[in-house]
Amino acid sequence: METYDVVVVGARCGGAPAARLLAEQGLRVLLLDRAARGSDKLSTLYIHQPGVAFLRAWGVLDEIRATGAPPITEVTYRVRDVVLRAPGPFVGGGNEAYAPRRADLDEVLCRAAEAAGVTVVHEASVTELLDEQGRPAGVRYRRAGRWQQARADLVVGADGLRSTVAKLVSATPYAGHPRLSCCLYGYWAGVDASFEQHQSDGLWVGVIPTSGAHLVACYFRQSEFACVRVDVEGAYDRCLRTAAPSVAERLAGAERIGRLIGMGDQQNYFRTASGPGWALVGDAGHHKDSLTARGITDAFVQADLLARAVADAGSLRPARLDAHLAAYARERDRRMMPFYRSTLAVARLDVEAERLAELRRVAGSPELCARYGAAVAGVLTPEEYRLHDAALAP
Ligand SMILES: Cc1cc2nc3c(=O)[nH]c(=O)nc-3n(C[C@H](O)[C@H](O)[C@H](O)COP(=O)(O)OP(=O)(O)OC[C@H]3O[C@@H](n4cnc5c(N)ncnc54)[C@H](O)[C@@H]3O)c2cc1C
Repeated sequence: METYDVVVVGARCGGAPAARLLAEQGLRVLLLDRAARGSDKLSTLYIHQPGVAFLRAWGVLDEIRATGAPPITEVTYRVRDVVLRAPGPFVGGGNEAYAPRRADLDEVLCRAAEAAGVTVVHEASVTELLDEQGRPAGVRYRRAGRWQQARADLVVGADGLRSTVAKLVSATPYAGHPRLSCCLYGYWAGVDASFEQHQSDGLWVGVIPTSGAHLVACYFRQSEFACVRVDVEGAYDRCLRTAAPSVAERLAGAERIGRLIGMGDQQNYFRTASGPGWALVGDAGHHKDSLTARGITDAFVQADLLARAVADAGSLRPARLDAHLAAYARERDRRMMPFYRSTLAVARLDVEAERLAELRRVAGSPELCARYGAAVAGVLTPEEYRLHDAALAP
């Protein structure tokens, strides 16, 4: 049996940085993923400025830029007649967001993990946890038709929405909320557009510049999912023409690359983030509607928090480790909960008169636009944004 200090299950934006940061502490880390290396993943790609600050701090931002993903320094948000231009906030030495292709992002993160000494193994599917005196002591996985086992003191589940690790440790779900939206997106070549968001009642369109193309996403209420899935092309077209007619016009002269991709399973939940000898990072432990594009940045935050908690424990001895993993779980909730609540509010896709009036007021003030951009990026919590906004209100 192979022996490590930590096994991380899931080698994308939660697992790969977590593995890397733990290896940099001198721990022997195995990173497993059942997907093929370099494979794609459902995503509209956008990484907010605080997420980009992690990429910069981790020394991989130049590799991300080299994928051809252009810097994004402003968002244009259009709701009915209101047009608001919000600059990206400066965080950790820059004000750019990026939307790299997921296969590129995840590969850059895996390479950085390998460079830190992590053993990275793809096409390895974890099915069971090893057990020693009631705590996980490693994993059993299947690779190339063979069963293998790896022993470890800490098992990290970074295995996404349908996490096997979360199931195997019986992580308790809480703060759940019914699904709110569903989405369709496609890639387009030859579009003249920057980073744009358009909203009308029940519909939302995002235009996101990525390497060599624009990703154009349409969001609908979850109650429409049954209709959307039977006529994907019609629903996408209708959403564009209703919520973003200027985008529909520009796409008429552009070329779509590939088919439309859809996602109806936009779950909203928290799961207990840690227990004796285990922790969850990223979607495995917390997922929310993708409309606010927070998942990648949040996965980075959690990878960083977990690595700090393990460093603070200073040892993988059960009592110390578990206490610090519990602290990680508390801090994860403290950091994620405000943005979870604001995401649930936005993903309803309602355009209330009150919200429209607020956006109109913000649009008229460069200072409020900058505050709005900082709130969208997650630099200000919704509470901080509202307090400041109230102070500026006439
Ligand atoms: C439609 C859509 C659009 C989105 N758009 C954005 C966006 O614009 N910006 C943003 O920040 N976020 C976005 N997100 C969310 C973002 O994609 C996720 O939050 C993010 O990928 C979570 O990363 P993760 O590492 O936790 O999990 P994942 O990226 O899901 O990776 C989990 C990995 O675990 C592996 N795995 C699973 N089970 C096992 C097993 N048993 N054994 C071994 N490996 C296993 C999988 O193969 C997978 O590679 C979007 C999500 C969706 C669905």
